[in-house]
Amino acid sequence: MKTQLFAKESACAAIVETGHALIEKKLVAGSWGNISCRIDAQNIAITPSGHGYETLTPEDVVIINRDGEVVEGKHIPSSELKVHTAIYNAYPEAGAVIHTHSIYASALAAMHHGVPAIIEDIVQIIGGRVECAEYALCGTQELAENTVRALNGKKAVLLANHGAVCWGKNLAEALLAAEILEKAAQIAVICAGTGNKVYELSCEDVDVMHDFYEKHYSKRQQGEE
Ligand SMILES: [Zn+2]
Repeated sequence: MKTQLFAKESACAAIVETGHALIEKKLVAGSWGNISCRIDAQNIAITPSGHGYETLTPEDVVIINRDGEVVEGKHIPSSELKVHTAIYNAYPEAGAVIHTHSIYASALAAMHHGVPAIIEDIVQIIGGRVECAEYALCGTQELAENTVRALNGKKAVLLANHGAVCWGKNLAEALLAAEILEKAAQIAVICAGTGNKVYELSCEDVDVMHDFYEKHYSKRQQGEE
Protein backbone atom coordinates (compact mmCIF):
# COMPACT_ATOMS: atom_id res chain seq x y z
CA MET A 1 0.00 0.00 0.00
CA LYS A 2 2.84 2.35 0.97
CA THR A 3 4.68 1.43 -2.24
CA GLN A 4 1.58 2.21 -4.29
CA LEU A 5 1.18 5.58 -2.56
CA PHE A 6 4.80 6.44 -3.34
CA ALA A 7 4.34 5.31 -6.96
CA LYS A 8 1.27 7.55 -7.29
CA GLU A 9 2.96 10.58 -5.75
CA SER A 10 6.11 10.23 -7.80
CA ALA A 11 4.06 9.73 -11.01
CA CYS A 12 2.08 12.94 -10.36
CA ALA A 13 5.28 14.90 -9.60
CA ALA A 14 6.96 13.53 -12.74
CA ILE A 15 3.97 14.59 -14.87
CA VAL A 16 4.23 18.17 -13.57
CA GLU A 17 7.98 18.19 -14.28
CA THR A 18 7.38 16.85 -17.82
CA GLY A 19 4.72 19.54 -18.38
CA HIS A 20 7.27 22.23 -17.55
CA ALA A 21 9.73 20.59 -19.97
CA LEU A 22 7.11 20.57 -22.78
CA ILE A 23 6.62 24.34 -22.36
CA GLU A 24 10.36 24.99 -22.12
CA LYS A 25 11.06 22.95 -25.25
CA LYS A 26 8.16 24.68 -27.07
CA LEU A 27 6.38 21.39 -27.83
CA VAL A 28 3.03 22.71 -26.52
CA ALA A 29 1.52 26.11 -25.75
CA GLY A 30 -1.08 27.07 -23.13
CA SER A 31 -2.99 24.07 -21.82
CA TRP A 32 -2.98 22.08 -25.08
CA GLY A 33 -1.40 18.66 -25.33
CA ASN A 34 -1.45 16.14 -22.49
CA ILE A 35 0.76 13.75 -20.52
CA SER A 36 0.17 10.45 -18.76
CA CYS A 37 2.18 7.69 -17.13
CA ARG A 38 1.40 4.29 -15.75
CA ILE A 39 1.36 3.92 -11.94
CA ASP A 40 0.80 0.14 -11.96
CA ALA A 41 -0.95 -2.45 -14.14
CA GLN A 42 -4.36 -0.84 -13.58
CA ASN A 43 -3.85 2.84 -12.83
CA ILE A 44 -2.66 5.76 -14.92
CA ALA A 45 -1.83 9.34 -13.87
CA ILE A 46 -2.94 11.93 -16.46
CA THR A 47 -3.00 15.73 -16.79
CA PRO A 48 -6.34 17.44 -16.10
CA SER A 49 -8.33 19.03 -18.93
CA GLY A 50 -7.78 22.73 -19.57
CA HIS A 51 -5.04 23.46 -17.00
CA GLY A 52 -1.92 25.38 -18.00
CA TYR A 53 1.39 23.60 -17.39
CA GLU A 54 3.10 26.50 -15.60
CA THR A 55 0.71 26.42 -12.64
CA LEU A 56 0.04 22.67 -12.60
CA THR A 57 0.68 20.92 -9.25
CA PRO A 58 0.89 17.17 -8.46
CA GLU A 59 -2.50 17.49 -6.69
CA ASP A 60 -4.11 18.58 -9.99
CA VAL A 61 -3.11 15.33 -11.74
CA VAL A 62 -6.01 12.86 -12.16
CA ILE A 63 -5.81 9.10 -11.64
CA ILE A 64 -7.77 6.97 -14.11
CA ASN A 65 -7.94 3.23 -14.74
CA ARG A 66 -7.25 1.38 -17.99
CA ASP A 67 -10.90 1.80 -19.00
CA GLY A 68 -10.59 5.58 -18.68
CA GLU A 69 -12.73 5.82 -15.51
CA VAL A 70 -11.66 8.38 -12.91
CA VAL A 71 -10.29 6.68 -9.79
CA GLU A 72 -9.14 9.80 -7.95
CA GLY A 73 -8.75 13.52 -8.55
CA LYS A 74 -10.49 16.87 -8.20
CA HIS A 75 -10.48 17.75 -11.91
CA ILE A 76 -11.80 16.35 -15.20
CA PRO A 77 -9.07 14.24 -16.89
CA SER A 78 -7.62 15.23 -20.27
CA SER A 79 -10.19 15.07 -23.06
CA GLU A 80 -7.74 12.85 -25.02
CA LEU A 81 -7.74 10.11 -22.36
CA LYS A 82 -9.10 7.60 -24.89
CA VAL A 83 -5.92 7.97 -26.98
CA HIS A 84 -3.81 7.38 -23.87
CA THR A 85 -5.70 4.30 -22.59
CA ALA A 86 -5.85 2.83 -26.11
CA ILE A 87 -2.03 2.99 -26.32
CA TYR A 88 -1.53 1.42 -22.86
CA ASN A 89 -3.98 -1.34 -23.77
CA ALA A 90 -2.31 -1.99 -27.14
CA TYR A 91 1.29 -1.78 -25.87
CA PRO A 92 1.80 -3.37 -22.42
CA GLU A 93 5.41 -2.10 -22.40
CA ALA A 94 4.25 1.54 -22.69
CA GLY A 95 4.92 3.38 -19.42
CA ALA A 96 4.15 6.94 -20.57
CA VAL A 97 2.31 8.79 -23.35
CA ILE A 98 2.81 12.41 -24.43
CA HIS A 99 0.57 14.27 -26.87
CA THR A 100 1.99 17.52 -28.30
CA HIS A 101 0.96 20.21 -30.75
CA SER A 102 4.55 20.90 -31.84
CA ILE A 103 4.86 23.13 -34.90
CA TYR A 104 6.67 21.06 -37.56
CA ALA A 105 4.92 17.79 -36.65
CA SER A 106 1.62 19.69 -36.90
CA ALA A 107 2.66 21.16 -40.28
CA LEU A 108 3.18 17.65 -41.69
CA ALA A 109 -0.06 16.50 -40.01
CA ALA A 110 -1.93 19.36 -41.72
CA MET A 111 -0.75 17.92 -45.08
CA HIS A 112 -1.60 14.36 -43.89
CA HIS A 113 2.06 13.46 -44.39
CA GLY A 114 4.06 11.23 -42.08
CA VAL A 115 7.66 11.80 -41.00
CA PRO A 116 9.91 9.90 -43.40
CA ALA A 117 12.77 7.74 -42.08
CA ILE A 118 15.47 10.15 -43.26
CA ILE A 119 17.50 10.74 -40.08
CA GLU A 120 19.12 8.12 -37.87
CA ASP A 121 18.06 9.30 -34.39
CA ILE A 122 14.33 9.24 -35.24
CA VAL A 123 14.44 5.64 -36.48
CA GLN A 124 16.58 4.59 -33.50
CA ILE A 125 14.01 5.74 -30.95
CA ILE A 126 10.73 5.53 -32.92
CA GLY A 127 11.44 2.43 -35.02
CA GLY A 128 10.97 3.78 -38.56
CA ARG A 129 8.77 6.08 -40.63
CA VAL A 130 6.09 7.84 -38.56
CA GLU A 131 2.62 7.53 -40.08
CA CYS A 132 -0.15 10.11 -39.99
CA ALA A 133 -3.38 8.73 -38.47
CA GLU A 134 -6.60 9.31 -40.36
CA TYR A 135 -8.52 12.38 -39.19
CA ALA A 136 -11.14 12.06 -36.46
CA LEU A 137 -12.52 14.71 -34.10
CA CYS A 138 -10.46 15.29 -30.97
CA GLY A 139 -11.57 13.37 -27.87
CA THR A 140 -13.38 10.63 -29.80
CA GLN A 141 -13.02 6.85 -29.65
CA GLU A 142 -12.51 6.96 -33.42
CA LEU A 143 -9.40 9.13 -32.95
CA ALA A 144 -8.06 6.63 -30.36
CA GLU A 145 -8.61 3.74 -32.81
CA ASN A 146 -7.05 5.61 -35.74
CA THR A 147 -4.05 6.49 -33.54
CA VAL A 148 -3.34 2.90 -32.49
CA ARG A 149 -3.81 1.65 -36.07
CA ALA A 150 -1.30 4.16 -37.46
CA LEU A 151 1.22 3.53 -34.66
CA ASN A 152 1.69 0.08 -36.15
CA GLY A 153 4.43 -1.00 -33.72
CA LYS A 154 6.26 2.37 -33.62
CA LYS A 155 6.56 4.82 -30.76
CA ALA A 156 5.13 7.88 -32.48
CA VAL A 157 2.30 8.91 -34.75
CA LEU A 158 0.98 12.14 -36.22
CA LEU A 159 -2.71 13.05 -35.83
CA ALA A 160 -4.14 14.58 -39.02
CA ASN A 161 -4.83 18.34 -38.66
CA HIS A 162 -3.97 18.12 -34.98
CA GLY A 163 -0.50 17.18 -33.66
CA ALA A 164 1.58 14.22 -32.53
CA VAL A 165 1.55 11.40 -29.96
CA CYS A 166 4.62 9.56 -28.62
CA TRP A 167 5.01 6.81 -26.07
CA GLY A 168 7.97 5.41 -24.18
CA LYS A 169 8.88 2.98 -21.44
CA ASN A 170 8.79 5.97 -19.08
CA LEU A 171 8.23 9.75 -19.19
CA ALA A 172 11.88 10.51 -19.94
CA GLU A 173 11.80 8.29 -23.03
CA ALA A 174 8.41 9.61 -24.21
CA LEU A 175 9.69 13.20 -23.84
CA LEU A 176 12.85 12.36 -25.78
CA ALA A 177 10.71 10.75 -28.51
CA ALA A 178 8.56 13.92 -28.72
CA GLU A 179 11.68 16.10 -29.08
CA ILE A 180 13.34 13.88 -31.67
CA LEU A 181 10.07 13.60 -33.60
CA GLU A 182 9.75 17.38 -33.77
CA LYS A 183 13.37 17.71 -34.92
CA ALA A 184 12.84 15.07 -37.65
CA ALA A 185 9.60 16.79 -38.76
CA GLN A 186 11.48 20.10 -39.02
CA ILE A 187 14.22 18.46 -41.12
CA ALA A 188 11.58 16.87 -43.38
CA VAL A 189 9.90 20.27 -43.92
CA ILE A 190 13.28 21.93 -44.66
CA CYS A 191 14.18 19.19 -47.17
CA ALA A 192 10.77 19.38 -48.88
CA GLY A 193 11.22 23.15 -49.26
CA THR A 194 14.44 22.73 -51.26
CA GLY A 195 12.72 20.52 -53.85
CA ASN A 196 15.72 18.16 -53.82
CA LYS A 197 15.44 14.38 -53.61
CA VAL A 198 15.39 13.05 -50.03
CA TYR A 199 16.89 9.62 -49.34
CA GLU A 200 15.04 7.35 -46.90
CA LEU A 201 16.99 4.83 -44.83
CA SER A 202 16.45 1.21 -45.84
CA CYS A 203 14.16 -1.03 -43.75
CA GLU A 204 17.16 -3.28 -42.96
CA ASP A 205 19.25 -0.39 -41.63
CA VAL A 206 16.26 0.96 -39.67
CA ASP A 207 15.76 -2.44 -38.01
CA VAL A 208 19.46 -2.72 -37.05
CA MET A 209 19.50 0.78 -35.53
CA HIS A 210 16.19 0.42 -33.67
CA ASP A 211 17.20 -2.98 -32.31
CA PHE A 212 20.50 -1.58 -31.01
CA TYR A 213 18.66 1.36 -29.43
CA GLU A 214 16.15 -0.91 -27.67
CA LYS A 215 18.73 -3.41 -26.43
CA HIS A 216 21.58 -1.09 -25.46
CA TYR A 217 21.47 2.63 -26.18
CA SER A 218 18.20 3.39 -24.35
CA LYS A 219 19.62 1.62 -21.28
CA ARG A 220 22.78 3.73 -21.44
CA GLN A 221 20.63 6.88 -21.61
CA GLN A 222 18.85 5.76 -18.42
CA GLY A 223 22.13 4.79 -16.72
CA GLU A 224 21.25 1.09 -16.74
CA GLU A 225 24.15 -0.13 -18.91
ZN1 LIG B 1 -4.45 17.80 -28.99
